[in-house]
Order: sequence, then structure tokens, then C-alpha cells
Amino acid sequence: MGFVKDPCGIVCVLVTYLAVLYADYVVTRWIILQTMQNSLWAPFHVVAFNTIVFLLSMAHLKAVLLDPGTVPLPQTRIDFSDLHSERNYNREHEEWTVCTRCETYRPPRAHHCRICKRCIRRMDHHCPWINNCVGERNQKYFLQFLMYVCALALYSIFLIIASWVYPCENCSTTVPETQSRMLHSVLLLLESALFGLFVIAIMVDQMHAILYDETAVEAVQQKGPYRSHRPKMALLAEVCGRGHPAMWLFPCATLNRKHHDVPLLSHDV
Ligand SMILES: [Zn+2]
Ligand SMILES: [Zn+2]
Repeated sequence: MGFVKDPCGIVCVLVTYLAVLYADYVVTRWIILQTMQNSLWAPFHVVAFNTIVFLLSMAHLKAVLLDPGTVPLPQTRIDFSDLHSERNYNREHEEWTVCTRCETYRPPRAHHCRICKRCIRRMDHHCPWINNCVGERNQKYFLQFLMYVCALALYSIFLIIASWVYPCENCSTTVPETQSRMLHSVLLLLESALFGLFVIAIMVDQMHAILYDETAVEAVQQKGPYRSHRPKMALLAEVCGRGHPAMWLFPCATLNRKHHDVPLLSHDV
């Protein structure tokens, strides 16, 4: 599945990058260069801030470009007229369902996305901010993206407040420059508070969905059976991979493939 051609999604992705670029510009140009000119904190904050920006972009790109878990289409058209007579098939694959739009069988927990126009494995929701579905394969990167946006927002707020509490007395600044700094600082403060709160709300939702093993789609459909009593760490590992939990924070480790490579359809069609 390629890049989803959804105008709203494309605009949201562009807005995301513009917002991150603006934050980087304000922090570097108007806060660090203006208030920490002669301090060793300047290079430290430049490196730390841009490291978060880099990790954020990596996680975001992976969430945007990776296949969220698209259910492949059958090679040949499936004849659904024998659906009810095929008891063997139904017994073997208890919770497999039929998608009439994709004209295929789909595994348990897969749902059809009207924007992607395909069925997605363990679909949570379609997110315009990544212009993609949040599903089995990219939920980890989506969570990381949220986490880094939150970290960047908090870092920006911290730097802005620090620049107000400890203004640099030795730094050479003119009145127009000080005014510009104030304007950009206030704008970035608003941006950070807005995106920060928004992202925390989604993060809480996502963690609830993972820890209670119920995607947003299932919560709407009130599909109780998936509310299992498995250990919370096992549920987290299913989304983030079997590696060490510290690696869950980085957008580089590979996911465990086990769950993703279940053969789609083993009977003749
Ligand atoms: Zn479908
Ligand atoms: Zn979608």
C-alpha cells in the first residue's frame, strides 16, 4: 500500500512538519542564541533539542510510510455464495470475517478503513496526523511519535520559561530583537501547550487501548471478547516488540514478525 491520497491527511502531515520546524527555529534562533550566547548550555541544548527533533521525525516517517498491516487482496475473486455451507472453513477460522468492500476474508480484529480503502489488521483508528491507519505494524512508531512530540513540547516550555526567569544580562540585544523574541516565545508557548495537551490525551487513549487489549474500533463496536486478562507487559510487547523495554523508546528496533506473517488464506478459492 502506498502513500494514502487523502487531502486532509497530507495537510496534517505538512502542518506537523511546519510546527516542528518553527519550534526548532524559535528555540535555536530566539532562545538559545539570544539568551545563552556565552554559556556552555547553548551547544548542549542545541544538540539535545535537535536529537529529539530527529527521533520525532524518524518515528513519524515510519508511522507514515510503513504498512499498518494491510490485509492482502485474494489473487482470484472469492465466491461468497458458499459462505454458509463452508462449515470447515468457519470452524477452523472462528473469527475470520468477510469484507464485502475488499471482497476477501480477513483475520480476527482486522477492520476496513474507508480512507485507506483496505482492511487493516488490528486497526485502531485512521490518523490524519500520520496520514495512515494506526494498526498492528505501525502502532509502536505512532506511540513514539506522540511521546517525542510531548517531550519536545515540554522541553520548549522549559526553555521559554528559563529564558524569562534567567534573562541574559551580558547578551547584546536591541529593543526590536527583544520584542521579536517575546513574540516568538509566546507563539511557541501556545503551540507547545496546544500540541502537548492534545498529544497527552491521545497517548492516554492509546495506552488504555493497548493495556486493555481493545482497539478504538472495537471499543466503538463494543466487542468484548478481546478484553483478555493477559499480563500488561505481554500486551505492550505485542505492540512494541520483544526486545528490551528500553529499546521501545527508539524508532529503530524491528518488530517481532511472528504475528504479522500468519498465512492469510489456506483453503482453495
Ligand atoms: Zn476491507
Ligand atoms: Zn486508514
